[in-house]
Amino acid sequence: MAALRFLGAAQQVTGSCYLLETDELGRVLLDCGMHQGGDAVERMLGESFNFDPATIDALILSHAHLDHSGLIPLLVSRGFKGTIYCTNGTLKLLPVMLNDAVGLYERDLKHENRRRLRKGKKPLEPVYTKKDVETALELCHASSYGKSLPIGKTGKASLLFYDAGHILGSAIVEITIHEDGREKKLVFSGDLGKKVSVLMNEPKTIPEADVVLMEGTYGNRSHRNQQDTLDQLEQILHETWSGKGVVMIPSFAVGRTQEILFHLGMLHYQGKLDPWQIYLDSPMAIAVTDIYDECLHVLDRKDAATIREMHKGSLKNFLPSFTYVNSPEESMALNDIPYGAIIIAGSGMCTGGRIRHHLKQRIWDEKNALIFVGFQAAGTLGRILIDGVKKIRLMGEEVVVKSRIETLNGFSAHADQTELIQWLLAIQGEPRVMLIHGELSSLDALSMKLWHDHKLPTEIPYPGQQIFF
Ligand code: ZN
Repeated sequence: MAALRFLGAAQQVTGSCYLLETDELGRVLLDCGMHQGGDAVERMLGESFNFDPATIDALILSHAHLDHSGLIPLLVSRGFKGTIYCTNGTLKLLPVMLNDAVGLYERDLKHENRRRLRKGKKPLEPVYTKKDVETALELCHASSYGKSLPIGKTGKASLLFYDAGHILGSAIVEITIHEDGREKKLVFSGDLGKKVSVLMNEPKTIPEADVVLMEGTYGNRSHRNQQDTLDQLEQILHETWSGKGVVMIPSFAVGRTQEILFHLGMLHYQGKLDPWQIYLDSPMAIAVTDIYDECLHVLDRKDAATIREMHKGSLKNFLPSFTYVNSPEESMALNDIPYGAIIIAGSGMCTGGRIRHHLKQRIWDEKNALIFVGFQAAGTLGRILIDGVKKIRLMGEEVVVKSRIETLNGFSAHADQTELIQWLLAIQGEPRVMLIHGELSSLDALSMKLWHDHKLPTEIPYPGQQIFF
């Protein structure tokens, strides 16, 4: 019997981690993600594994987002020495993601330790370091989509990555094993992209499976269609421009930022964008944008062609008034711009990063606009702002919230309810379906819809639950 334990992203969206145990494979982790929220030191103190990392034979990584990959260096520092399987695109992004995370962690740890020393307390030892990131990257074995890789002790089991259409390199994972004298397929959706999106391909449909782990981040929602979302963006931008304001867009460095740049470029070429100065104020998003530019050949063919034809072949050059903001000094200098700027900065849920300093500078002013373009998890500053809080604390200071706050759901990098259902229904073999990676309300709604409309039973595993197949 194969056993599968749901260690993370069960009834929640972060900390994706599942442990598969079979005779052929030994012990294999699917993803090793970190939880969101809190500062890096607090977060890492709270992270632990319910298993001995030294006993794990391999890790299969669906994509480079930190909620799927962020604990890999900790896994390494605690003794993991196996192979990390991922796609070529993921391997390009992973160094940027993990080095950024360890940099933040080391900076926060230094602050925390200074505080501790002042109080006469013992400083904390780092739980992982840059060296662990380097080791983790050396353990990676990258592959292309659609290429079957032998894995495990006997070499008979196999691993296949399909394009999940979520971010560069994102994969749906298919593992074929042999149990009880027959072949069994486990499919892990990773994060599934939308059918209609820019830069990304449509998520691939999977022929058949015995067990499916499907994400349900937006299991209870239908996205607005893309054109409505773009119209809404155009309108908010134009109104803010007319009111002499500044627009702040908290954005995830990977995927969403590049998508927003593409849309702003298109609005510009359609003559629908006022002459804004646009700033990308995030060293990580800048590095990732450069990687997307290098990898146009694996992105959506039509959109890549648009970028190649319209503006010097890159997202970086896609807008005439677009500036990379690298240093903290350059970022601070943006404070002096009175109006007419669009500032795209991380983090996407306002839990850290330069966006917090821009919020402090500008959110008290009703002329400005804050536009959310991605999912805001419960408990994050982003969610609190969307829920309509009137005052927030930023860097030790109370700030009133008066800016216009808008949420554009149509830019999500996740499939919505209809798309999730279509993707699942295309899989033959009457698989056992486990709904993961969603808040309970989303997963419940998705499960009920699948039962009501299609008589398809599904399960919502709880954290720590184990199933056998
Ligand atoms: Zn993701």
